[in-house]
Amino acid sequence: MQPSLAATSPVRQPLRARRLSLLVVGVCIAALLAALVAALVHGTFASAVAGFAPAAADGLIAEGTVVTLADDDVPAIARLDSDLSAAMLQAETDAAAEGLAFQVTSGWRSPQYQQWLLQDAIELYASETVARQFVATPDRSSHVTGKAVDIGPIDAQLWLIEHGARYGICQTYANERWHFERATEPGGVCPEMKADAAG
Ligand SMILES: [Zn+2]
Repeated sequence: MQPSLAATSPVRQPLRARRLSLLVVGVCIAALLAALVAALVHGTFASAVAGFAPAAADGLIAEGTVVTLADDDVPAIARLDSDLSAAMLQAETDAAAEGLAFQVTSGWRSPQYQQWLLQDAIELYASETVARQFVATPDRSSHVTGKAVDIGPIDAQLWLIEHGARYGICQTYANERWHFERATEPGGVCPEMKADAAG
């Protein structure tokens, strides 16, 4: 029922209709612009704060996933320094003879992943100084160069702490008994450990 339209002169009706369509188009454009601005603002915010999510391609080994040194299709393993992985494989073979199995909890990491871990630790400890004792910056981390590997479980860690030097493998940070690097020649003496990743 449109009595007002019927009452309007036939000349003015098309003008009203044109105005109405212009209004509709205008509202649509405004809505599109608002959506675009919202998307841009959200996108900028997301990339600065939480836009990066580490993936397997960054060296992520998801919690609950069992990865070993033999899994060379996993980037965290494939991108390890070849001397380190060769030494670790040899150590693992000998440890296996004693009934032990090595699991890799972290290996190579992309610089972005390392930065993300650092950021996460800063939030956890509410202190960059404390965070850096556990997570090195990307330019200092031996995980980013593929020269460090984190090993579990604890019996494997203890075996490596005791026998790693035979293969040139050493625990390098006193506060990380899971973190190993190739830090001496096979059969050599491991250098004195640094107190932590900030040292
Ligand atoms: Zn480590």
